[in-house]
Amino acid sequence: MFTAQREAKLFEELYLSFLIIQLLFLLNVISPMFSKFQFKPIAIVYSLYLVVRIGLRIRSLYFLHKLSLDLYNTLWTLSDGLFLTLYIFSEAQSGAHMHELFYPFIIIQSMRFHQQQAWKFSFFVSLCYGLVVLFSGSYTITIMGHLVTVVLFFGTAILISLPLRELAVLRVEKEDMMDALKAKNAELEDLARTDYLTSLSNHQSFHTYIKRLKKLADDQEFSFSVTLIDIDNFKRINDTYGHLAGDHVLKEISQVLKSAIRQTDFAARYGGEEFAIIFPKTEIHTSVVLCERIRSAVESHKFLVDGQCIPVTISLGTATYHGNDPQERILEFIHDVDTLLYQAKHNGKNQVQFKKIIA
Ligand code: GH3
Ligand code: MG
Ligand code: MG
Repeated sequence: MFTAQREAKLFEELYLSFLIIQLLFLLNVISPMFSKFQFKPIAIVYSLYLVVRIGLRIRSLYFLHKLSLDLYNTLWTLSDGLFLTLYIFSEAQSGAHMHELFYPFIIIQSMRFHQQQAWKFSFFVSLCYGLVVLFSGSYTITIMGHLVTVVLFFGTAILISLPLRELAVLRVEKEDMMDALKAKNAELEDLARTDYLTSLSNHQSFHTYIKRLKKLADDQEFSFSVTLIDIDNFKRINDTYGHLAGDHVLKEISQVLKSAIRQTDFAARYGGEEFAIIFPKTEIHTSVVLCERIRSAVESHKFLVDGQCIPVTISLGTATYHGNDPQERILEFIHDVDTLLYQAKHNGKNQVQFKKIIA
């Protein structure tokens, strides 16, 4: 993307080229047209100044990566302008009118400083031009001619800086829109991962998470435990108190689960009235303790429906995956946990069934 940073660098490089061209121009390298050039002291001083300036620009641009147009940079630019003026003045004394060199200077400064008041450089150049005209005495142009030149200096700065400023505003707007779009995308991704009723992670993100954790566990050889939970006789709750009451129980249970698990654990709504919890880096005995804690928290929780307290219990199946067998299929492992949950149901519900799957 063409950022403000890249644009600023481009303008700084343009300015660097301008300084280099001036040096080449002075050293008579550019064109034999200027072979009449004699080494006047001002040209020697100006050339030396340009060598230092070019060196400093290269250092700050490519080694210090500095692009800010601070006071230091502004003062250097004014100093460049003064040297350019001195050179134009010395040429004017010999009768050569080279004030057109002010135009590329204004154009580049209007580009570089388009965010600030670019007219300042036109004002500065107009002053320099005035001094050259006043002191060289070689200009025979009318006052009107000088005024037109000054107007052109200002016009050039405005013509260059205004569209660039407009473009900068458009770029900021575009960047704002991109940020808003990114935030919206993140929000949508979040929504796609979340269960609408309980705000827990949904079935899909459970599978994404467990696949990633399995890979990590295989690589780093650690264990994790998985628990599947099913609400006991939930159909009866729906049938007795209504579907909305059922939804309320689902939401309440999610809250109980959230507060019962640790921050590092992962809870999801696995299906209709089923939940899943992943306990990373947890062995079976700890998982059983945690599951028992969850079971008893649900059992003792007061589920209020129409001011009436209704009993709710859950059945749980839990097992531990040992990260030492990359061949172990995660879906088979989950199926085994589901079998444990089925056993819990079969054995009378409201209980935890467990098994250490891989010894
Ligand atoms: P068991 O103890 O064997 O698990 O019996 P159960 O009644 O809980 O199980 P069953 O599978 O017979 O019924 C589950 C019920 O959960 C059926 C379905 O209508 C209900 N259910 C599933 N999703 C939702 C939901 O989002 N909201 C409500 N209110 N009910 C739901
Ligand atoms: Mg069920
Ligand atoms: Mg059930």
